[in-house]
Amino acid sequence: MSDNNLGENNRESVNFIQKIINEDNLKGTYNQKVHTRFPPEPNGYLHVGHAKSICLNYGLAKKNNGIFNLRFDDTNPVKEDDSFVESIIKDVKWLCPDWEEVIFYASNYFEKMYSYAVELINKGLAFVDDLSADEIRDYRGTLTEPGKMSPYRNRTIEENLFLFEKMKNGEFKNGEKVLRAKIDMSSPNINMRDPVIYRILHEKHHNTGDNWCIYPMYDYAHPIEDAIEGITHSICTLEFEDHRPFYDWLLNNLDDFKKAPTKQIEFAKLFLTKTMMGKRYLKRMVEENYVDGWDDPRMPTIAALRRRGYTPESINNFCEAIGVSKAQSVVDISMLEFAIRDDLSPKAPRTMAVLDPIKLIITNYPEDKVEYVEAENNSDNPELGNRMIPFCREVYIERDDFMENPPKKYYRLFPGNEVRLRNAYFVKCENFIKDENGNVIEVHCTYDPETKSGTGFTGRKVKGTLHWVSAKHSVDAEVRLYDYMMEEEDYDKTNFLEKLNPNSKIVVKNCKVEPTMNDCSIGSRFQFLRHGFFIKDQDSRNDNLVFNRIVSLKSSYK
Ligand code: ATP
Ligand code: MG
Repeated sequence: MSDNNLGENNRESVNFIQKIINEDNLKGTYNQKVHTRFPPEPNGYLHVGHAKSICLNYGLAKKNNGIFNLRFDDTNPVKEDDSFVESIIKDVKWLCPDWEEVIFYASNYFEKMYSYAVELINKGLAFVDDLSADEIRDYRGTLTEPGKMSPYRNRTIEENLFLFEKMKNGEFKNGEKVLRAKIDMSSPNINMRDPVIYRILHEKHHNTGDNWCIYPMYDYAHPIEDAIEGITHSICTLEFEDHRPFYDWLLNNLDDFKKAPTKQIEFAKLFLTKTMMGKRYLKRMVEENYVDGWDDPRMPTIAALRRRGYTPESINNFCEAIGVSKAQSVVDISMLEFAIRDDLSPKAPRTMAVLDPIKLIITNYPEDKVEYVEAENNSDNPELGNRMIPFCREVYIERDDFMENPPKKYYRLFPGNEVRLRNAYFVKCENFIKDENGNVIEVHCTYDPETKSGTGFTGRKVKGTLHWVSAKHSVDAEVRLYDYMMEEEDYDKTNFLEKLNPNSKIVVKNCKVEPTMNDCSIGSRFQFLRHGFFIKDQDSRNDNLVFNRIVSLKSSYK
């Protein structure tokens, strides 16, 4: 898709999930109610794929005057951690500014989940099994062969109730027993072959501590969590499609929920080019120090995008533009970049920054004179006003804006050529000085006082306009230029660590920025003319400001 039609795409169209909601409203399935949720497992930081799910669930609730819950799916005590809980809340708040912070924890329903398991046992729909994990796997059968029934499948209800309670009371070791649903060992869907719904795990839980030593399995817990919260449309990704029959079976067999059970709807995950997605892989990059933490601006985590300088609006617009579907595809990362350029272009003040400075000396300008020239903050948005910039005899320009022997069509500085210094004067190159290695270290020019910007000078035209900063007034800065995490599209989960782009972060020191950059707060975003969009990073110090490049001005780096 070209940059141009992103943005309009899908904005007004009704996605397939909204169509399902409309039908439910028409039939009165949920009394016109829409209630969605985002159910992360707190075992890592959220990534832009999760952002798609958040924007979708939150957006549908908002559009339909419904409710959106954040619910931690914290049923696995082994991998979960409170620091992940905090990061997830921060990310959801950031993406959904009007969200009322309705937060739930699946672990708060452990008691209820237990009682529903007892209900299933009482209905003859669940049994305690003594088979080991390996035996259960062997008995399960394959896609082409039916499974075999467990020899413990016909235990009486009384015996099952008795054993399940003993499981709960910690009278067995890990793995000694499980509780299984009793469905159909010959079902073509393996998920329906008496799935395990509870396991013994003597582990401390981040929320419930040592209260429990049996924990519900995801497929059992998730539908119950949805149903307890009154979720109407449980939106998840495609890999759960084969789990839907069990989801429906469970809610249809529990008296509390069978009247209007939650509806599971699957959509295709977001994948991005040049980007490794998936929490467990991102976790490896962090733990094995391939990046500087979860919020390293090269990462596709929401925390990293925030630090990199993305705005929540740009991510929401991106998610809206890519739409939702049932067909798996990979979205070009340039669409994400388009979204942030589109958002920042009118909003971000435009300033001058010299990333590879070389001194330009105006030989006919008085030595001690300083004048202030006026500059527009954003030529596309007059509301951002103007600012005054100090100008004096010595300024910095980009090293590659001067050439001793220029090729054809080079309109910037070279001996004898005249250019405009943006917002200031025309200057003409008279001379230059090289060091002992032959590198140009100074460019000497003369200026024409008649050509001051803003005075309406029309005497002659020049083809080149250069950005610059005053040598005396500018401030030192470090600029971090980011490139894609993955160099090519030839990586997968087995080799991505070897395929990481070695140039994904380039630190440029001794850059020169306008003096006002000292005063702006961390997190302020700018366009550095000709270089791209930048954000002032939290690593900034008074004597060394740090800016991250959010995105370049054109759709491909370098
Ligand atoms: P990962 O695949 O990165 O390990 P996950 O699915 O294990 O993620 P969860 O915390 O279980 O992570 O996911 C929370 C929700 O986010 C789920 O509903 C899941 O379907 C959704 N989700 C995860 N990855 C994506 C993605 N790439 N695109 C859209 N939604 C996603
Ligand atoms: Mg998961």
